[in-house]
Amino acid sequence: MPKMKCRCGDVLSYGEIPCPIEHLFISDTDFDKFVGKIEAENLYSTMKSFLKCPNCNRLWIFWNGFEEEPTEYIQAQ
Ligand SMILES: [Zn+2]
Repeated sequence: MPKMKCRCGDVLSYGEIPCPIEHLFISDTDFDKFVGKIEAENLYSTMKSFLKCPNCNRLWIFWNGFEEEPTEYIQAQ
């Protein structure tokens, strides 16, 4: 199962289906290319993922798929 270590020390594993810490998103531009009824598989393959650490709430956004390192985002206080 793929996993990564969060900066806070938690280990985030993201191989589960469905994965409770993984969120999917799509840009408005990409979504706009879909018309009418949408095949879930097609939509899924266009969406990108981020993981939300349940311990520190950091977001790790995989802008370019899971092959590349994610970008870290931390909540401002
Ligand atoms: Zn964390």
